[in-house]
Amino acid sequence: MSENTIQCPCGQPIHDYTDYLLLYLKKDSDEGGEIDILCRNDYCYLRELGYLKFTIDKARKVTLEKGKFYAPYVTWNATRMSEARTVEILKIHLVDITEKLVQWEKVIRGIDKEKKALSSEEATA
Ligand SMILES: [Zn+2]
Repeated sequence: MSENTIQCPCGQPIHDYTDYLLLYLKKDSDEGGEIDILCRNDYCYLRELGYLKFTIDKARKVTLEKGKFYAPYVTWNATRMSEARTVEILKIHLVDITEKLVQWEKVIRGIDKEKKALSSEEATA
């Protein structure tokens, strides 16, 4: 195992953004949501490595509110490499996840669909 490879505490190597899984979470409020960043290993005991929080305005423009990896994941790698190197690599991962991995069109469409379902329910009530 290369010292330069980020790793999940479960042992799963994470070379770049393609090694993460995403979980889109529905939120009660209609203007945004959350995406969990997960480890690819089905048997991972940690599972959640981080999250993205975003809002979507009326023009369907997405604004990223917050993106973060959780402390156990960061600390695990900081003790294996250096903290500076870990922070540097994870920052790149987070940007890549946001720009390349998240299918924002799908996220926005999903939220639109929910809104529609909600308003038709209201109409029949
Ligand atoms: Zn894992």
